[in-house]
Amino acid sequence: MTFDSLGIDSRILTALKNQGYTTPTPIQQQSIPVLLDGFDLLGTAQTGTGKTAAFTIPIIQHLLNNPSSKRREIKALVVTPTRELALQVAENAKRYSAGTGLRTAVIFGGVGQSPQVDQLKNGVDYLVATPGRLLDLHNQGYIDLRHLTHFVLDEADQMLDMGFIHDIRKLLKIIPQRRQSLFFSATMPKDIIELSSQILKSNYKQVRIAVEKPTAERVSQAVYYVAKNDKPALLLELLKDMEGSVLVFGRTKHGCDKVVRILNQKGVKASAIHGNKSQNARQNALNAFKDGSLKVLIATDIAARGIDISGLEYVINYELPNIAETYVHRIGRTGRADASGASISFCAADERAYLKDIEKLIKLSIPLIEVHPFSEGANAEWAKPENRIPAKQGQGQRQGQRKPSSNRPAGNNSKGGNGRRKSGNGFARGGK
Ligand code: AMP
Repeated sequence: MTFDSLGIDSRILTALKNQGYTTPTPIQQQSIPVLLDGFDLLGTAQTGTGKTAAFTIPIIQHLLNNPSSKRREIKALVVTPTRELALQVAENAKRYSAGTGLRTAVIFGGVGQSPQVDQLKNGVDYLVATPGRLLDLHNQGYIDLRHLTHFVLDEADQMLDMGFIHDIRKLLKIIPQRRQSLFFSATMPKDIIELSSQILKSNYKQVRIAVEKPTAERVSQAVYYVAKNDKPALLLELLKDMEGSVLVFGRTKHGCDKVVRILNQKGVKASAIHGNKSQNARQNALNAFKDGSLKVLIATDIAARGIDISGLEYVINYELPNIAETYVHRIGRTGRADASGASISFCAADERAYLKDIEKLIKLSIPLIEVHPFSEGANAEWAKPENRIPAKQGQGQRQGQRKPSSNRPAGNNSKGGNGRRKSGNGFARGGK
């Protein structure tokens, strides 16, 4: 399938060609026709699937095809949870609409409002915004949403996570009822489905880009059992062998800062992005990471979600996420497009349950690196009475209580000599 066969406007096709896009991704193949037909859409998709183009292209086309509507009135609104994602979505919209004459703007909090207000005063067709600043500027009278025909709520689960539900409810009261609505979320828990039902028309279409085994073919995965206290040393050891950019995930803001301090003390250049960092600090760190001048970026899930980092080689799960789907999002940051990538997870004694959940979700037993300099520490930690899982009545050891030395079955990725078990630090880049 090609973009031409989807009935896309020739101006957009030219813009896509200039981007080097030849084939629509699965989410684009599924979404673009139904969106061009005017249906609302509920999309379950992780970032890296081409989601942004999937919703941007048909909206641009509708705006181009609707000559009755005046130019420079906000007709499309995309709401994203973070500044970084807003910038990225707006950047993509500008690229896909290059040469069409449509005007795109992006607004977000944490920076002075004057340049944003100036842009709005000059007239905007396609607005990308974070919720707080959007409502703020609307309340000040700088934003008129009465002519809106297209509304996109992107990364809805992250939006709720970040406490934006009240802002979203307020926004829904402001925007016109007659509109095409698109609702995207990486995960679809109950509260998200409920919210979607308040936004979408009942005849909405659904696309689902499966989360099961999302990138397993391209991303080689491995897990190290390691004592909590040995995690910094293991990280330093692994970084020695890693060429290319490394995105390290922590669970807490404080934990991320701690990792940065340790790495910096040892002469490794690293920065953190998380909610307590200023917008500018986050953007600077991200820019440095993207241009390759910063090798290691430490991030919380919320700060990093939705950020597109092309050519990312490694994801390290310094702390395993307590929600299995988050693991899928994390490893989806690498192995994008045609690239291969590697995901390495550190699992301390108190994270075994998380690992078990993850393996259940991805239906894969992540290959275990058994031999590494800190495996003894892991053995000792796991042997402590408080880390033993009490046997249930009538049962022996609970499933999942496996010592690091146990002989775990290797998953898909260990096939074809990709098991990456070796002496030394126990890690060698696989998959290439
Ligand atoms: P997204 O999921 O929207 O963040 O997109 C992930 C990445 O894929 C971005 O870098 C896009 O520029 C790129 N991309 C989107 N659609 C295509 C396509 N059809 N062909 C090649 N690259 C694409």
